[in-house]
Amino acid sequence: MSLVVGVTGGIGSGKSTVAELLQAQGAAVIDTDHIAHELTAPGGAAIGAIVAAFGAEFINPQGAMDRVRMRQLAFSDNSAKSRLEQILHPLIRQQVEHQLRQAQGCYTLLLVPLLVETDAYRQLIDRTLVVDLPEEQQISRTMARSGLREAEVKAIMARQACRRDRLQSADDVVSNAADLKSLQQQLEALHQRYVALAREAKSNEHAADHL
Ligand code: ADP
Repeated sequence: MSLVVGVTGGIGSGKSTVAELLQAQGAAVIDTDHIAHELTAPGGAAIGAIVAAFGAEFINPQGAMDRVRMRQLAFSDNSAKSRLEQILHPLIRQQVEHQLRQAQGCYTLLLVPLLVETDAYRQLIDRTLVVDLPEEQQISRTMARSGLREAEVKAIMARQACRRDRLQSADDVVSNAADLKSLQQQLEALHQRYVALAREAKSNEHAADHL
């Protein structure tokens, strides 16, 4: 497998935007949020276990997990939150491993919002890219995108690693405090670096094959 870069950052920091821009340059993208959505969509692999653990009232008429209701429960009840995580995390992990085996890009980005907070993906990634911006901007962009109120965004942020801890665990950092053009410029340089590192990793693998 070539280079795998874990991409993380707080809510609204710009992880999806970074992934989209690097994907356009040839990176493969695996998004754990997207996988979680698929698992809890109608017919998703987690639906049966969610009904068994929480009851059919947590499934909407279309057959998907009722996200609003589940979020409310998980926020007020830690044991419910961890029961949901015990259902979802192994399924997400399985799907990530499957997608890593299939990935075709010149390197792979693995988007994990809580990469710093959990140990689950450490063995699968070669390095960590943090998307960074000041907290005030993080709040305003998240509010503009989601319609959540400031207090709600702050409550979500309080459950995530703080900016300093996240930066401490970074191998690479992009600042998303300015406009998209500035982000794109930083990503062009980073892309070249990742392509070079992926090539290096591949030639080391070949060398090892011939030992
Ligand atoms: P995440 O995936 O980390 O939650 P997103 O990539 O969805 O974050 O970005 C959050 C919001 O901020 C989106 O609406 C996105 O379009 C917007 N956004 C991202 N980068 C910038 C930027 N440099 N300038 C202005 N808006 C941005």
